[in-house]
Formats: sequence, structure tokens, C-alpha cells
Amino acid sequence: MVLSRRAVLALAAGGALAGSRPVAEAWRGAAGPSAAPPAASPAIPPAAPPTSAPSPVPVVGRAEVVARYGDAVPEEWGMTTSGVITELPGGVRATALTFDACGGPGGNGYDAELIEILRANGVPATLFLNGRWVDARPAEFESLAGDPLFEIANHGTAHRPLSVTGRSAYAIAGTRDAGEVYDEVAGNAAKLAALLGRPPRFFRSGTAHYDEVATRIVTDLGERVAGFSVNGDAGATLGADEVRREVAAAPPGAIVIAHMNHPGGGTAPGFAAALPALLAEGRRFVRLHEALA
Ligand SMILES: [Zn+2]
Repeated sequence: MVLSRRAVLALAAGGALAGSRPVAEAWRGAAGPSAAPPAASPAIPPAAPPTSAPSPVPVVGRAEVVARYGDAVPEEWGMTTSGVITELPGGVRATALTFDACGGPGGNGYDAELIEILRANGVPATLFLNGRWVDARPAEFESLAGDPLFEIANHGTAHRPLSVTGRSAYAIAGTRDAGEVYDEVAGNAAKLAALLGRPPRFFRSGTAHYDEVATRIVTDLGERVAGFSVNGDAGATLGADEVRREVAAAPPGAIVIAHMNHPGGGTAPGFAAALPALLAEGRRFVRLHEALA
């Protein structure tokens, strides 16, 4: 291998997202083969858990996932496989901004400027945090998790493409079987649940790649798979003006993906330039759980 791990990660972050295009594929539910999973109810208010708070540990265990899906053969692979939500439901006149913190070597940065821009403009967002980033940034995690402007979501335990057959994306090896899919989803879900007091509602894998068996496993574990329709920063590789154009052009109903772990790039200044004009036009922004009931 000639590339350093840092270079591979940078390539993956940019390559995985560059060149994607909006896809209007409705989420099809991907019902599992057994009873409905203990999905977190979108009606739960963010700051006031009900008396019967969801268990922080997924009810469906690793052995059960392996028993259900150990022999399943997937047919799809990519960023828009069955079970991936790429847009808000029809009729939602709002836009969802999502920011990933990928974690690991070269991925544990924190774009404080970007977060300040969101706070200064009162713009809510959903933050997909990888388990390694959470471990590396305890103070920042606490600040973000305590801010009602932000919804914390699951960006995987080790930032792996989600496959039951070991498929890779952009030189990052994917999970190899159903058990590893469980580990990638449930490991970080348990970490976040312990810190937040409730499990995350949404999952996005490293590189945002999936097969459709893996997305069903995510559903069984009580989370929904969040894709995107607008690529805001192409893995934090775009300049400020390109980011501004992408974000400014995002229509109502869009899910915008960008990154919050690459300070000093074009992401923060791009959003700073785009958001005031959108707000002046009356654009509303929502966290994912507000729009995806
Ligand atoms: Zn990532």
C-alpha cells in the first residue's frame, strides 16, 4: 500500500461523496422478518424522555441478527440501496442539514467555526458522530449533546461501509458479515445511548455505502438509515464558494450532507455565506427526527 492511512481516509471522504447526485428514492420501510424493532418514537421530545424511556441496549442481540441474516445474500450496493432515506417526505417544506464527524486518524478534527455559524444563525442540524470521534472529543461532545439545536446520530463504531459480504468503498474495508454489521451499528449506539440517556434514531455508515441486508439490520436495531440528496462539501474537499453554491441550491425537502471534522476548509465559510440568504427567504431547517416521523 503506497498511500498513507491519512491519505486513504481523505480520499475516501472526498471520493465517496464526490460525484453523487440527488436521488429521489422514497424510503421503503425495509420491514424486518419479525416483529417491529424497538424504534425510538419520533414523538419523544428531545429534552423530556417519557417514563418508559427506551432501553439503551438494542433489544435485538448479536446472535439474533446473525441467525436472521447470516445466510442472506444481498443484491444491492451503494449509497441509495433499499432502506436508505435520501430526502425528507413529500410536502415537508424544510431542509435538513447533516454533518458527519468521521473520527480515527486524520478524522478527529472539530470545526468550531462551523458549529458557531449554526448557533449564531439558530440553524438546527443533525450531527453524525463516529465512536472514535466521541472518544477523542469528550468536551465537544458534551457541548453539542447539551445543545437543543443539535440532534446526535450514529456514524458507526469504526466508520466502515456496511456490508454483509465484506464489500469495500474507496479503499475502506466494509464489514464482513451480519455480526460485524451489528458491531458497527450497535457498538456506537450503545456508547451514544449511555452518554445521551436514549439511543440514537438515525445511522449513517462510513462512506455512506450499504447493501440492503445491512440496512435491514439497522432497522431491526431501531435506527433509520440517513442518506442524502445534496452533497454540500464533497467530503470536505470543496472550496467555500462551491460549498455556498451547493447549499444555496438545496431545495426544500433536501437532506444535505457535509462534514464537521475538517476545520480550516471551505465548509464553514461556505455555510456562513449561504445560510443568511436562505433564512432571509424564509427557509426552515429541521433535525431529521422532526421531519421523519
Ligand atoms: Zn464519515
